[in-house]
Amino acid sequence: MKQKDNVDLICDIAELAGLFERSSSLEDFLKTATSIIAWHMKAAVCSIYLYDENNDDLVLRATQGLETAAVGQVRLKLGEGITGLALKELRPICEGRGSRNSSFKYIPGILEEKFEAFLAVPILRGLSKVGVLVVQDTQPHYFDEHDVKALRAIAGQLATTIENANLLMSVHAEAVVPPSAPAPLPRFIKGTGISSGVACGKATVTNEIDLEALRAAEGQMAPRTLQDFQRALQETENQLTTLQNALDEELSDVASLIFSAHLLMLKDSSFTGEIEDQINQGVSPAKAISQVLHKYIKLFAKSANPRLREKVLDLKDLGHRLLLNVMAHDGDQADYGNRLIVARELLPSELLKLAVQRAAGLVLLSGGVTSHIAILARSLQIPGVVVDVAPSQLDALEDRELLIDAGQGTLYIEPDSDIRETYAPLLEAEPDARPEVADQTRSADGTRVYLLANINLLSDVSRALQMKAEGVGLYRSELPFIVRDNFPSEEEQFRIYHRLVQRMAGRPVTLRTLDIGGDKMLSYASPQHEANPFLGLRAIRYSLRNRDTFEQQLRAMLRAGAAAPIRIMFPLISSLDDYLHACEVVQGCQLALQREGMPHSAQPELGVMIELPSAVELIDELCQAADFICIGTNDLVQYLLAVDRTNEKIADLYTPYHPAVLRALYRVIDAAERHGIEVSICGDAATDAQMIPFLIGCGLRTFSVDPAEIPEVQSIIQRCNIEKARKRARRALRMSRISEIEAFWRGD
Ligand code: PEP
Ligand code: MG
Repeated sequence: MKQKDNVDLICDIAELAGLFERSSSLEDFLKTATSIIAWHMKAAVCSIYLYDENNDDLVLRATQGLETAAVGQVRLKLGEGITGLALKELRPICEGRGSRNSSFKYIPGILEEKFEAFLAVPILRGLSKVGVLVVQDTQPHYFDEHDVKALRAIAGQLATTIENANLLMSVHAEAVVPPSAPAPLPRFIKGTGISSGVACGKATVTNEIDLEALRAAEGQMAPRTLQDFQRALQETENQLTTLQNALDEELSDVASLIFSAHLLMLKDSSFTGEIEDQINQGVSPAKAISQVLHKYIKLFAKSANPRLREKVLDLKDLGHRLLLNVMAHDGDQADYGNRLIVARELLPSELLKLAVQRAAGLVLLSGGVTSHIAILARSLQIPGVVVDVAPSQLDALEDRELLIDAGQGTLYIEPDSDIRETYAPLLEAEPDARPEVADQTRSADGTRVYLLANINLLSDVSRALQMKAEGVGLYRSELPFIVRDNFPSEEEQFRIYHRLVQRMAGRPVTLRTLDIGGDKMLSYASPQHEANPFLGLRAIRYSLRNRDTFEQQLRAMLRAGAAAPIRIMFPLISSLDDYLHACEVVQGCQLALQREGMPHSAQPELGVMIELPSAVELIDELCQAADFICIGTNDLVQYLLAVDRTNEKIADLYTPYHPAVLRALYRVIDAAERHGIEVSICGDAATDAQMIPFLIGCGLRTFSVDPAEIPEVQSIIQRCNIEKARKRARRALRMSRISEIEAFWRGD
C-alpha cells in the first residue's frame, strides 16, 4: 500500500534547494530529486523532462525507474504523449490506465508498457515553461487527487530551483544542457489557415535572408567589377520603380511609396559610396555589398526607434536584390516568383511587397501573425498558413519544396508523389474560375436576403462586383493607415473612399472609422506598451482621444458621400455616450465642411458596431439612437467569452456555438427588428454553415462577408427554409451547453 503523507513529502522536497548546493551539477541534482520524489510517492518511476526553448520540445533529463540510456535521448514535442500534452495545455494530467489512452506514447524499451498509472505535471515559472514532472506506476489508477496536489507543489518548488541552478551554472559558463541540433522537421504540419487556396514551390526564409550564402556563391563565378556593381544599382532601381508603379496601379490605397526606403538607400551616396570605396580597394562587389549591408542592418536593428528597426527586412530585401543583380543579368531572379515565403513574422507592408514580387504562398510562425496579416493575405489572395515550428527549425526550410493548403491549414515539406497528385487539380486550376452566383439571394421559400461584401483593399471591389455583392457592409478603413509609415492625409483618404463609392455605383457603402489598437498597431502612432491592448485604447476610443485624426477621417468620408449615399459606422462602441460623442464629431465636421463650401454628404446614416457585451446590454437605447447596427462577431465572441481571438492556445474556447453568444445575437437581432432599424452581421460567423440558418431563424436578413465567401453563403441560404430555421433557432436558444449545441448542429 502506498503511504500518502503528502505534507511530509512537500517538506522534504522543500529541502531540494539545499540539495542543489550539495550536487555537482544540474544533472546530479535532478537525478537525486527524481529518486527522492519516486521514493516518497512510492512510484515505480519518476522522471523530469526539461523544456528546450530553441527546439520547442521536451528532453528527458533525469529518471528514476526508466533506462538511464534514455536520458538526453527521448524528446517529446509539445502535445506529444501525456507528458507533451501536460506542457502544451499547461495542466496536470492523471491517467489511471495509460495503455487505453490514445495520448499515451510508448517508446519501446524506454517508456515500458507495464506502467499503467501516469501523472504528469507541468513545471512552470509564472507563464514560462520549465519542464514536466512525471510519475508512473504499474498499478492502474495508482495516483489520486492528493498525488496531483503534492506533485504540483513539488513542481512549483522545482521550477525556482531549476531556474536558479541554470542561472548559477551560466555564471560559471558551464553548459548545463549539451547543445542539441534542432529536431528534424516533420514531413507534415497541421497548422491554421489564414486565407484560402493551395500553393506549391520552393521556400525562401525571409527573416533569415542569408546574404553570406549569396555572397559565397560569388566564388564560383567570373569576377565582378565596379561596372557590374553600377549596372546592378541601376537595374535594382529600375526593378523597384517598376514594382512601385505596378503597386500604385493595383493597390493605390495602401501602396503609396512602399518601396521608398529601398529607393532612398540606393540614392544615399554614403551607402553606395562606401560599397564603391571597398570595391576600389580590391574587395569583390558581392563581398562589399554584403559587408556594408551588414553594417547598416546592425545599426538599424540596434536602433531605439521602432520604425528604424522595422526597416531591417527592407535592408535585407535590398541586399538580396543587389547581390542577385550583381551576379546575374536576369533581373527577374530577384523576385519571389512562385516561391513560398517562410517568415517568423511579417509586417503588413512587407506582405504587400512580397505580393507584388509574386510570392506564391506564406508560411508564418505562430505568434507572428496579426489579424491584419490574415486580412491582407485574404485580400491579396495569397494562400497562407500559420504553423507551430521552433524558430531554430526555420533555416532548415530554406530551398525545400513546400506545399500548403490554406483552407485546411496544412503544410507538407517535400511532399511525395501521392500528395502532389492529390493536389494537382487544385494547383492547376485557373485562379479566375468563377463560381455561379445569382443576382439576388433568396431562401428556399423565397424570402429576400441581402449579401454585402467586406472590403479591406480597393482591389477587393472587383471581386465583390464579380460575386454580385449588393453593397459594402464593412469597409475596414485601417489598412491604408497600417501599411504606411504615417497617417494618410485627408486628401489621400478622400481619394480612396471616393474611388470605393464610385466603383460601387450607387450600391450602399458602409465605411467603418479607424479600428486600430488591439493587435492592429500603427508603428507610428499606436499607444505603446499597453498591458492589455485588446482592453486598451482601441477603435472608437482611439478616435475620440485623437480628435484631429478622427476629424480628418470623417471629413474625407463625408466628402466621398457628396456624390452617392454613404453610411458611417463606429467600431467598439461600449456606451450610448461613445456613440453620441462620435455623432457630435460628425456634426462638427459637417458644419465645418459647409462653412468651407466643400461638397459633402449632408445626411449620412450613422451606425454602431455591436462588438461588446455592454453594447448588447444597451441594445434598446443604441437601436433608438442609431440609424443601423452591425454585429461584429469576431470581437463579440472574444469579449463575451473573454477569449483572445488571436491566441491559438485557447482557440478551442473561441466559439460562436456558445449559448451566451447565441442568446446575445438573438437579443440584438430582435431589438433591431422591434425598433425598425437595419441589422447586419459582418464577422466570420456570417460564413459559418451552422450559424447562417440560426441567424436567419433569428430574423437576420443582411450578411456582409468576404467576397470569396459569397457563393457558398448564398447556396446555404438558398437551401434554408425560414420556418424550419426559426424553429431550430428557438430550440438552440433553449440549450445551456456548448456540447448540446454542437451535437444539435451535427444532427446527433
Ligand atoms: C468583427 O469584430 O467581427 C469585425 C468584423 O471587425 P474586425 O474583424 O475588423 O475586428
Ligand atoms: Mg471588430
